[in-house]
Amino acid sequence: MALASVDLGGTNIAAAIGLADGTILRENQIATLSHLGPESVLDRIADLVQSIAPEGVEALGLGVPGLCDLSSGQTLFLPNMPTQWRGVAAASQLRQRLNCPVFLLNDARMASLGELDYGHGKETSNFAFFTLGTGIGGGIVLDGHLRVVGGEFGHQTILPDGPMCGCGSRGCLELLASAPALSAEAIRLMKMGQAPDLLLRVEGDLNRVSPLLMAQCRDAAIAAAIDRAARYLGIGIANVVTTFHPDLVVLAGGLAQMGAPLFAPVRDEVSRRVRMFPVDKLRIEPSLAGPQAGILGGLALAYRRGVI
Ligand SMILES: [Zn+2]
Repeated sequence: MALASVDLGGTNIAAAIGLADGTILRENQIATLSHLGPESVLDRIADLVQSIAPEGVEALGLGVPGLCDLSSGQTLFLPNMPTQWRGVAAASQLRQRLNCPVFLLNDARMASLGELDYGHGKETSNFAFFTLGTGIGGGIVLDGHLRVVGGEFGHQTILPDGPMCGCGSRGCLELLASAPALSAEAIRLMKMGQAPDLLLRVEGDLNRVSPLLMAQCRDAAIAAAIDRAARYLGIGIANVVTTFHPDLVVLAGGLAQMGAPLFAPVRDEVSRRVRMFPVDKLRIEPSLAGPQAGILGGLALAYRRGVI
């Protein structure tokens, strides 16, 4: 029997069936419809898994966007979901529906596990993993083990008097260097007439702006905006490097696809700010697990039966 992986997001639920070696056999995606509440969303997850694995599955790894307890299988706080899912017994409800063990993990941590088992972790046992998308999250792998309580990389203070964050603090990394932060700045620059090439590329539709299009355009103001965000990100990464001294920093998620315009200033900023030990051997690389890191992490979590 195959393993199942589900990545629960605020907008979509992605599910896959696969094998312990990371082979994905079947996958599908549906809208989350989070306004219907936890019971309904969990029912839809079970329906989705059953639709791609009618023969049943051995175990399910489920990534959730927020805090959860791996041992009890409860969600604790999903900040972007209505009702915020405090104390929802997600694992037991899904176990009854799917008749298999179910394991919960924070989604960024689950992607880190995917990188550990199917990506850079094959040859590196100490690395920091950053997911750079709508939010910024990540995980730390030390001596080949993922730290379950991995902290929240996106909510470290970068600008002490910066804008107010949803977490209650100010100037968090996520406000300065996430995909929405970059896109908002690009839209402002297009409206101000400072990004004519990008405006052409989105064919006048401001909603089509993406970090990838920004990285490809020829506007100096956009290049400066990317550089500024990348340097904030570099400060955040330098803080994590100084704290944990990993051999490798892995960047995953939509922003990591921007390539050199993101990586070059990040690398420069890290080497300028990590001064306590040499960083000439520190590598900062894109994810090998790629966009599938989360789904692969769910397969790993199912295969490991929650032992990480
Ligand atoms: Zn914050």
